[in-house]
Amino acid sequence: MPRAVVLHPDPVLRTVAVPVARFDEALARLAEEMLDTMYAAPGRGLAAPQVGVSQRLFVMDATWKDGPRRPCVFVNPEIVAGEGRVTGPEACLSIPGRTVQVERDASVTVRWQDLGGAAHEARFDGFEAICIQHETDHLDGVLCIDREAEA
Ligand SMILES: [Zn+2]
Repeated sequence: MPRAVVLHPDPVLRTVAVPVARFDEALARLAEEMLDTMYAAPGRGLAAPQVGVSQRLFVMDATWKDGPRRPCVFVNPEIVAGEGRVTGPEACLSIPGRTVQVERDASVTVRWQDLGGAAHEARFDGFEAICIQHETDHLDGVLCIDREAEA
C-alpha cells in the first residue's frame, strides 16, 4: 500500500536519519511500501524520511517510466567516491511543483546493504548517479532546494 508523502517543510525532512540495524520483516515491509509510494506518486526515487521514517534507506527505479520495473533498495547507503560534475534539473516528491538546477557528481561509487544485510558496492552514472545523490541527501536532512545552483 502506498503511504502519504511527507511534504516540505515537515521537520522529519530536516532530520539526520539513523542507520538501519535490523534486517527483518518490518524493514522488508517498509521497503515494499516505499516502492508502492514511489510508483504511485509517480517518482523514480524515494527516501524513508519522505514517508515519515527517519532511517537510512531509499528506493529507486530509474527506468520504469520507459520500460519494465526494476525496483532497487539501498539500505545504509554511503557515497565513497565521485567523479566529474554535471548540472541538471531536479524535482522532489516532497516539494511539488518546483524544479531546481543542481550541480552533482556525474558518477558515484556507492556502498550499501540489501534487505538481507549483505554489503554491495557499485559505480553508477547518468540519472542513477543523480538520483542516488538526491536520495542520500534526504538521509542527511538535505533537500535539492538547498543546492540550487546560482543562475
Ligand atoms: Zn527528494
